[in-house]
Amino acid sequence: MFIEIEDLKPEPIEVRQVYPAGQLDLKRSDATLNGPVETDFMLAHKERDLHVDGKVQAGIRFKCSRCLKECTLPLTASFDLFYLPQPKWLKREEEIELKYEEMDIAFYDGIRFDVDLMVLEQIELSMPMKFVCREECKGLCFSCGADLNERVCDCAADQPDSRLAVLLEFRKKMGK
Ligand SMILES: [Zn+2]
Ligand SMILES: [Zn+2]
Repeated sequence: MFIEIEDLKPEPIEVRQVYPAGQLDLKRSDATLNGPVETDFMLAHKERDLHVDGKVQAGIRFKCSRCLKECTLPLTASFDLFYLPQPKWLKREEEIELKYEEMDIAFYDGIRFDVDLMVLEQIELSMPMKFVCREECKGLCFSCGADLNERVCDCAADQPDSRLAVLLEFRKKMGK
């Protein structure tokens, strides 16, 4: 969905959009959208400088990076952003850097505002770097693949934790 800036009246508008499941795709490969995505925001503008303020709601599906279990997570991203027409002197690479350093300022072409792109960016920005099913997830055993949340395998007993072994060795040398 695009909003043509030329068609905007001076007053702010409220934009509500529901994307049916399957209409938007995340760039990240470790998660997918699960169900519809909703956005609701106010769009105000001064000439071609835009101010958008609202939220995005989506469900995401991912595999826990530790135990590989499939999980779903409801996600709400609130945003309060300024979109400015892309200055001519700004190259593409610089645009990306600026956008992520100054989270509240982004650029667009100054002609039409890409709502889908903003919605996807907001979802991705509010996603964690790594997905885990829960903070305490113990993950899988590196040797036998057992889910350590469900049972304790025998591998741990055979191979002492290498960091612990180093520490024990160190203590022995120090005479403690
Ligand atoms: Zn897990
Ligand atoms: Zn094991």
